[in-house]
Amino acid sequence: MIVVAGRNKVVEGDDQDAIRRIKCAASPANARRLSKATPCATTGFCSDCSSPARICRATTILTRKPSLTDLHVLVVNEDMGF
Ligand code: SF4
Repeated sequence: MIVVAGRNKVVEGDDQDAIRRIKCAASPANARRLSKATPCATTGFCSDCSSPARICRATTILTRKPSLTDLHVLVVNEDMGF
């Protein structure tokens, strides 16, 4: 598996800072882009909604490469997506 991410996805801090970025930047922007009827699409910030259109439903944190996997993460030196 190869995960490709733009440099704008790199967050200074810890996993909570990364989740905050998802909730405060990426999810609202993607909800607007996809015309989702979520609070964040309107307000620009997360209200931990229960909307049927909720865009953030799963969180995966890899602290180390899982054993017996062929996982690579490539960070591209340009902004990609939100
Ligand atoms: S929980 Fe709802 S309001 Fe918060 S980021 Fe996800 S979709 Fe947007």
